[in-house]
Amino acid sequence: MTPGQRAEARIAGLGITEPRDLDVDLIAMDADMEVVYENLQGCEATLVGVGNRAIATVRRSTVRGRERFSVGHELGHWDMHRGRAFRCRVDDPGQNWASDALLEKEADTYASHLLMPTSMFNPRMKALGTPGFREIEDLSEVFATSVLATCMRVADINTLPVTLACYNARGVLRWRKAAEDVPPRWWLRQQLDDDSFAYELLHNGKSHPSPGKQPAEVWFENMDADQYEMSECCVPSRAGEIMVLLYLGPKMLDARYDPHVGNRKFNQHGLRVTRK
Ligand SMILES: [Zn+2]
Repeated sequence: MTPGQRAEARIAGLGITEPRDLDVDLIAMDADMEVVYENLQGCEATLVGVGNRAIATVRRSTVRGRERFSVGHELGHWDMHRGRAFRCRVDDPGQNWASDALLEKEADTYASHLLMPTSMFNPRMKALGTPGFREIEDLSEVFATSVLATCMRVADINTLPVTLACYNARGVLRWRKAAEDVPPRWWLRQQLDDDSFAYELLHNGKSHPSPGKQPAEVWFENMDADQYEMSECCVPSRAGEIMVLLYLGPKMLDARYDPHVGNRKFNQHGLRVTRK
């Protein structure tokens, strides 16, 4: 079973079918993992297991969604990586991906499916069409998850050609997560373009929470990007960062690999080719 399947099997085993019944503390208790909330320093959560019982210590946050994600993450470790102790920094993909990652990623996937199981999440997402940040905030209220975790799940379910990206206060790309069906040929700009809504948000404080049309060249380095249209929305995130949701236009999905795209900097898998 994949981490996501394991999490969803646990939810199904408890007979939970509605988001309001996804009480992570009770779900953890049922799995013999006690949860305590403390003002942890330097990490988001820890897990210590003794025999068949575990204690997860989760950093207190004013955002309940973050606490819930941490509980789900530690439950993932307890469920899948028993016999080890963990000290985790969760719910920040930039940090998790930078550090070791397989077990942390598995625990993140587990938490994501535990809090937003496919059977409950996908029908609600489908009803939203192409959601902007307002709709995603509403969805995150339904599931009591953070907006970030909800956006990640939106990319994960791969029902829309969406890329989630985070740019820092200097307009530099920190990390990105694309739905699986987004062709890797589309190479995201490392630095925000002056014409992007995100640039306007960074410099003039103007939010664009609803998707608005943009020429694809605003967001992608590919030389043929000026021939395509896409949509963009963005909101401020923590620590002066900007969170962006990009939806590829339908024609962008059919664009074929072109050896000249990006001045041959990229291969058909979207990987940067080092010139010899
Ligand atoms: Zn962890």
